[in-house]
Amino acid sequence: MENRYLSQIVFPEIGKEGQEKIRNAKIAVIGCGALGGIIANNLVRAGVGKIKIVDRDLVEIGNLQRQILYDEEDVKNRIPKAVAAKKRLEKINSEVKIEAMVIDVNPENIEELIKDSDIVLDGTDNFETRFIINDACLKNGIPWIYGAVIGSAGSTMTIIPEKTPCLRCMIEQIPHPGSLPTCDTMGVLNTIPSLIASIQTTEAFKIILSKESLNKNLIIVDLWLNSFEKINIEKKKNCPSCVQKIYPALEGEEISHAVTLCGRNAVQIVPKRKISISFEKLKNKLKSLGEVKYNEFVLSFKNPEYELIVFPDGRTIIKGTTDISIAKSLFARYLGI
Ligand SMILES: [Zn+2]
Repeated sequence: MENRYLSQIVFPEIGKEGQEKIRNAKIAVIGCGALGGIIANNLVRAGVGKIKIVDRDLVEIGNLQRQILYDEEDVKNRIPKAVAAKKRLEKINSEVKIEAMVIDVNPENIEELIKDSDIVLDGTDNFETRFIINDACLKNGIPWIYGAVIGSAGSTMTIIPEKTPCLRCMIEQIPHPGSLPTCDTMGVLNTIPSLIASIQTTEAFKIILSKESLNKNLIIVDLWLNSFEKINIEKKKNCPSCVQKIYPALEGEEISHAVTLCGRNAVQIVPKRKISISFEKLKNKLKSLGEVKYNEFVLSFKNPEYELIVFPDGRTIIKGTTDISIAKSLFARYLGI
C-alpha cells in the first residue's frame, strides 16, 4: 500500500525517522478559527499523532469566508467550532487522535489544558488569551508559536522557553498590527491566514524534528504590499514572564468574567463558580419570553433585541450589545445566576 506520508518521507529534512517523530507528537491548537483551522488541517494531514483543539465559539456564517474546516450545515445546526473541526478532520485522517474542547481558556484552566502537549499553537484572536498562553507555556517549559492576522497582514514568532524572547518582550518593543483595536474596521482577507498558519505549522515540524532553522525573529507579512519583514526582538532585561518568571497573566489577576468579543457586537460571561445547566429546564423557564432552541452543545434564546447562547457550563455569549453591564443584567435576568 502506498504510504500516506510519502511526500514528507522523501523530503530529506524529515525522512522515515522524522515521520515517526511527527507521529509521536502531541500538539494543542488554541483557537480554531482561520489560523487554527488551517494549522489543524496541516497537522492532521501530516500525521501528527495527537491534536487537542480548544475553541469557545460556535460556527457562524461570517466565518465561512476564511475558516476552511466549516460549512453551512455547521452554521445551521449551531455546532461549536471544536466539535465541527474534529468531525471534519477525522474524515481526513482517522489515524490521528483528536480531542475537541469547547471551553474558554483562562488562567485557571490553561496549565491543565497544555500540560500533556509538546507544542502549543496560537490560533486565537486576542492578546488577553495570548498572554495567558505565553505565561503558561514559559512556566511549563513548552514551546509555543504566536500567530495573528488582520486586514491583509499577519505576524508570527516562535517562542522557546529559556532560549528566545517571549510575547511580552515583543509587545513592549513594537506597536503590533495585531494589537491595534481595529478588527471591527479592518476585516481580514482570506489569503493571509493560510500563509501565517503555514509558517506556524512548519515551525512546529522543526521543533518536533529538533531542527536549528527555527524562526528567530518576529515575521511580519503584508500580502497587499507584498512585504515580508523579519524584525529582531531582544529579550527584555526585566521581562516579568521570561526573565523574572512571575507570570503575571497567571498570578494575582482575577479572571475577567465578562469580556466584549471583538468585532462581534457580543459579550461573553463566564460564571465564577462551577455550574451545570439543564437545557430542558432552562428551555421551560424561558420559552414564554422568546424563541428557545437547543442541541447537545448549546442553547439559544432569542428575543427581538438580544440573543443569548448558553453552554452547559453556564458560559454565555450575549449578542446584540457590547455593553458589559447590560450583558450582565441580561445574564442575571434570564439565567438567574
Ligand atoms: Zn519575555
